[in-house]
Amino acid sequence: MEQRTVVRCAEGHLFSTSTFPLQNLGPGRLGPGRLVRCPRCGRLRSSVPADVQELSGGQLARAMRLEAAEFLA
Ligand SMILES: [Zn+2]
Repeated sequence: MEQRTVVRCAEGHLFSTSTFPLQNLGPGRLGPGRLVRCPRCGRLRSSVPADVQELSGGQLARAMRLEAAEFLA
């Protein structure tokens, strides 16, 4: 099964992506995030991996249906 990462944009929108380079982001290195085109904003936003432990099932399900395809930086 495809591994997807749930991410949160600077505006607080949750979505998912299969291309987030998580391997470069250890738990202590969430830093400034990555520029992703948020499917909710329709704009490039600095986004960080969301803590899925803190999301409800509904939030998680919605995020999984919203997939960002475009990645810069
Ligand atoms: Zn957004």
